Amino acid sequence: MSKLRVVVWGENIHEQKMPVVAKIYPDGMHSAIAEGIRESGKDVEVSTAILQEPEHGLTKERLSQTDVLVWWGHAGHAQVEDVVVDRIQKRVLEGMGLVILHSGHYSKIFKRLLGTSCSLTWREAGEKERLWVCNPGHPIAAGIDRYFELENEEMYGEPFGIPSPDEQVFISWFEGGEVFRSGCCWYRGNGKIFYFRPGHETYPTYYDKNVRKVISNGVRWVRPQGTWIDACPNVKVACEPIVVKGESVH
Ligand code: ZN
Repeated sequence: MSKLRVVVWGENIHEQKMPVVAKIYPDGMHSAIAEGIRESGKDVEVSTAILQEPEHGLTKERLSQTDVLVWWGHAGHAQVEDVVVDRIQKRVLEGMGLVILHSGHYSKIFKRLLGTSCSLTWREAGEKERLWVCNPGHPIAAGIDRYFELENEEMYGEPFGIPSPDEQVFISWFEGGEVFRSGCCWYRGNGKIFYFRPGHETYPTYYDKNVRKVISNGVRWVRPQGTWIDACPNVKVACEPIVVKGESVH
């Protein structure tokens, strides 16, 4: 079986500007996220792309050879070219999988595909986050106990301005009392989308074994199940003999 081709995309801004982030992620957050997926099995082939590359490293050709795109963005959402967003949307509708992490809730591509504000409440106070599995039979929760905890994370709270998820996998509780739908799945066209909340840049979240397991499970859950090309074909030849009753109205 051919390997699942995964591209981890990072905006690579905080790592360049904030020493605290560069210290935690010396090779960039995208590299740590990619490493976590790479070590999860031999069935994946993982590469990275960053905002600063021509076409953000996501040319038409590269996307056509990508099965799953993993996205981390925050400060650079507005810098992502609309033509690239169009291209990613098209590929997701065809069947490419998409995993959106943390502050990617406000990325152009996530908002485009979900069609809502994707707004939330937040607080940066290094709180404990407890992620509860609310769907133990879901493949994305495989290998995760009833819950797991991250000692220090940014808080994201409800209301989260998303369409009701097609499948809900995790709900987070924070030390300050808020809760948040932190693991959500949607189907769009022929593609699947998984949103996973943890991953604020000033904490070593992407080295956590449970976080790595969930992202790796998510990558496999969104894997393409065939391709559905948007071409609107005119099927002139019917499968069964028919009497043509009039002109096409299409
Ligand atoms: Zn954050």
